[in-house]
Amino acid sequence: MPRNPERTRERLRSLPQVEEVLHAPCMRALEGRVPRHAAVQAVRDAVDAARASILAGSARPADPDVIAHDACSRAFALTRRSLRRVVNASGVIIHTNLGRSVLAPEAARAVAEVARGYSTLEYDTDSMARGSRHAHCEKLICALTGAEAAIAVNNNAAAVMMVLSEFAAGHSAVVSRGELVEIGGSFRIPDIMALSNAAMAEVGTTNKTHARDYALAIDDDTAMLLKVHPSNYRLIGFTESVPLSELRALADAANAARRAGADAGGQALEMLVYEDQGSGAFASLECFGDYAEPTVAESLRQGADLVSFSGDKLLGGPQAGIVVGAKRHIDRLKANPLARAMRLDKLTLAALEATLRLYLDKERAVREIPTLRMLSETAEDVRPRAVALEQAIAAALPEGAVRLEVVPEVSRAGGGALPMCDIPTYAVRVEFLRGDALSCERYLAGERDVPVIGRIRKDALLLDARTVLDADETSEIARALAEYVERTHA
Ligand SMILES: *Cc1c(COP(=O)(O)O)cnc(C)c1O
Repeated sequence: MPRNPERTRERLRSLPQVEEVLHAPCMRALEGRVPRHAAVQAVRDAVDAARASILAGSARPADPDVIAHDACSRAFALTRRSLRRVVNASGVIIHTNLGRSVLAPEAARAVAEVARGYSTLEYDTDSMARGSRHAHCEKLICALTGAEAAIAVNNNAAAVMMVLSEFAAGHSAVVSRGELVEIGGSFRIPDIMALSNAAMAEVGTTNKTHARDYALAIDDDTAMLLKVHPSNYRLIGFTESVPLSELRALADAANAARRAGADAGGQALEMLVYEDQGSGAFASLECFGDYAEPTVAESLRQGADLVSFSGDKLLGGPQAGIVVGAKRHIDRLKANPLARAMRLDKLTLAALEATLRLYLDKERAVREIPTLRMLSETAEDVRPRAVALEQAIAAALPEGAVRLEVVPEVSRAGGGALPMCDIPTYAVRVEFLRGDALSCERYLAGERDVPVIGRIRKDALLLDARTVLDADETSEIARALAEYVERTHA
């Protein structure tokens, strides 16, 4: 409550009219670049903000120039590009906030080509008739995972939703309490279950679930044994989970009993084993040793009927969700209306197909798919890039502005993959003699057309060379730091 109501009323009366602010020179300069109603809205928002500040007891009276300036920046923000390129020097390879995987040049070319013209999206050139958009990637996915059939949709969250809706709606699905995870934002396994009308049968405890827990929970209505990859967290210590092969054995036994019990000609409900694998590795990255994520092929070999995973995590492609499994299951998914609602667009299909094609030659995949390359480079591979970055920064900055050092550091896979894995790397440590690391970080991220994202460690800025993609990005970082130092000096 403001302490001086009379003064507050006076200040509220002094707020400018919307029409008045619209006539401010900077607002006039925006005419023709921003629709009038948007300009009016920006002015209203600016006046509202000033009013809120007076009501909150602000010590300063409303200044019409300040309000006009605020309105202009609000209106101007509409004309600025929002989705822009970023230089990622954070060392987090599959950075979810920065667009997860960077596409291979070949995939980016495929996107550009399909975007510029018409395409064979749903056209079969052999029969010269309508084709299926599912056809472009399915054979490749099967060849690379050993699956009989596959379908790709918008993302893995959509894939999970679709699988549960098709196979478990109206029935129950058994899942371990150790795997009831939230994977960032609004994706929580119990919520997706509820949304898909599958009854969730939770078994085991947070840290330990045994095969007998599943066995006890299985009844005539169990349609699925669901295994969820814990992605971005790990239980360590006194823990136990049940491997796919044991879930397979449980499902086989239950299915045999159901078939034996079904009346002649009657259809028994088939219990499926489904793994939401999340990260979706195609190549097992030997460099990760014990931490290596299971590959899709391994999960199928261990007996999963269906496996789903993301396209833009360890796979290194565009945002997509892929489900693999037996043809009779995938055919049902293709016929589900959710497959239509969650289908991939042609640009994503082009990127996904090109990425998958690179996997046909595994060495080429590791060389050309940026996510795979950055994950598998050794620290010594990264070091020359860190040294080049240090030199570029040193050349761009005036003497005495910073102290630079190439230091051993740790990169992260990100994207919920390999969370326990410290990936040794080299970073440039920037210690500020002029300005400071925090304000520099804010400048690099917040005030540039091409933001540069680093991280702070003990009053210094760290720039991890592992995720800096090329020489252009190296120069961009050096330029950004030079601009910051120049500003601080001024
Ligand atoms: C990442 C992840 C998801 C969600 O995948 P999106 O492609 O981001 O929709 C679902 N389940 C698991 C286990 C995951 O790791």
